[in-house]
Amino acid sequence: MPLRILINGAKGRMGQAVAVTAGEMGLGIVGAVDVGDDLAGGLARADVVVDFSSHAATRTLLELAVQQHTAVVLGTTGHGADEKKRLLALAAQVPCVWAGNFSVGVNLLFALTRRASAVLGADYDAEVVEMHHRFKQDAPSGTAARLLEIILEERKLDSTALRHGRQGITGERKSTEVGVHALRGGDVVGDHTVMFAALGERIELTHKASDRAIFARGALRAAQWVVAQPPGVYDMQDVLGLK
Ligand code: NAD
Repeated sequence: MPLRILINGAKGRMGQAVAVTAGEMGLGIVGAVDVGDDLAGGLARADVVVDFSSHAATRTLLELAVQQHTAVVLGTTGHGADEKKRLLALAAQVPCVWAGNFSVGVNLLFALTRRASAVLGADYDAEVVEMHHRFKQDAPSGTAARLLEIILEERKLDSTALRHGRQGITGERKSTEVGVHALRGGDVVGDHTVMFAALGERIELTHKASDRAIFARGALRAAQWVVAQPPGVYDMQDVLGLK
């Protein structure tokens, strides 16, 4: 039987990209819902919901998906750390791929960042810079947040190490700091650079997205994969076999 996909956040930039890309991939969209539509009714007709909406919508979406035993592909970003922890417990009750970025290139950037953080050590100051279009609601991006998590994990630091921008007399940079800077403007789909700067050399790992279709293709690949998995929370590294 063909896969039955529901889009949540269907009127948004990503929701529309998912609908177009599904058509190109020959996948069936059985429903498309947005604010105020009948999400429960949509979920009842679907095997999997692909969500690019608002972080405020995630709890209700997951509660309904658990009730209806619907698999979830969650692309929405902007959840606080505590909020995400509580939501993960709900998400684990259904097969769920939760990824701050569905592009194959960015998932390779995650792997390269982990490797660079481990090899380069604390002598190399780590800073993350991201840029997105002027309409983006949250900062830093979900992708930047994941890059930061990886650096903190490899350096055995916690979130108190993060410096969100700098202003005024900040003093010398400590080797335990990890800087993060969010640029906003125009129609930039998503740029991320991870810098490791030492005395005498600097390494920069950069990914630039120029078309939302890369996220849509990845999310639909995740949708096809996740319906065959047992309940649990997975990420794009699982889908791509990068672990
Ligand atoms: P957008 O503002 O263009 O679209 C969001 C849509 O969700 C809108 O149509 C809005 O009406 C709808 N929405 C809001 N609340 C809702 C609710 N309670 N129920 C149903 N629909 C609701 O935003 P966008 O650029 O499409 O991005 C959406 C989300 O996806 C953002 O959090 C963004 O950061 C994230 N995103 C993730 C990836 C990824 O690869 N994971 C890629 C791009 C964007």
